[in-house]
Amino acid sequence: MAENVLVTRGLTKRYGGKTVVDSVDLTLPKGEIYGLVGRNGAGKTTIIRMAAAQTVPSAGEIELFGETTPKGLQAARSRTGAMVEIPSFYPYLTARENLEYYRRQRGIAGAHVVEDALEQVNLTDTGKKKFKTFSLGMKQRLGLALALMDRPDLLLLDEPINGLDPEGIVEFRNLLLELNRQYQTTILISSHILSELQSLATCYGFIDKGRLLEQLSAAELAEKCRDCLELKVDDAPRAAALLERELGFRDFEVLPGGAIRLYQGLEAPEKITAALMGRGIALYGLEHRGANLEDYFLNLIGGVRHG
Ligand code: ATP
Repeated sequence: MAENVLVTRGLTKRYGGKTVVDSVDLTLPKGEIYGLVGRNGAGKTTIIRMAAAQTVPSAGEIELFGETTPKGLQAARSRTGAMVEIPSFYPYLTARENLEYYRRQRGIAGAHVVEDALEQVNLTDTGKKKFKTFSLGMKQRLGLALALMDRPDLLLLDEPINGLDPEGIVEFRNLLLELNRQYQTTILISSHILSELQSLATCYGFIDKGRLLEQLSAAELAEKCRDCLELKVDDAPRAAALLERELGFRDFEVLPGGAIRLYQGLEAPEKITAALMGRGIALYGLEHRGANLEDYFLNLIGGVRHG
């Protein structure tokens, strides 16, 4: 069984009378990059803050590296690095000086830690450049370097890609992939734009109004979003045999209700219609289905489609 780095059970946060995180059961297996997706205000930051012990849950349980007791959790948190908004760096200090300040403040041994962290985020050659002159991308990367100084096994990142330009997004994404591949760092990353996490996340959790609506692997999501033709016929087993025998199709599935989802031959549906009708199979419906990731999420939360 996969080892889980973070598990939440019934995790809940209330502010005043308002429940902003509502009984969230989240599972993050070791080595995965978990994309937590939800609109602004959905509760992503609050979940991450609770996992990072920056906010106390109102109810529910957090299990971190198998630990659930206060003492165990405290030890587990030393294996966790978090970036919830850009930390407050000193504007007139350089990247190195800022990290050095935090290293001493946190009592982390070894000056090389700063150099290693800068290297990991490609900020070694910023020299005397002061933080206040950094681009947003550089600031984000310095924030990440700070989270990496403790050499965490788990990284919690709240909307780190937010506001970056397309080049900055690619750079940041590659950086996270590298950390994940090279050091097997498990990552929880939130975003309100699902496509930003594409080609990065290995699993997803969709959150809306504080509730975790669905949790699935990237492969499962891709499968759900795959373009297909959905055929409604009177005799699905016969139709399936015919698709295979006469049209040579192999990539399809027969759904429990008797419909067939066909993932090939999409360019010429008339051939399919002709073949089925030629064999006396009644075709009640033929629909082109599929959704991009963004549509999928919007459908899930019952929102409107754009574009
Ligand atoms: P965003 O990307 O906008 O930060 P989010 O998904 O991260 O969105 P949260 O920041 O977790 O959402 O906020 C969820 C809800 O909780 C919001 O309605 C927010 O106003 C509320 N909230 C967050 N922190 C507090 C707080 N300290 N006091 C009261 N309400 C809060």
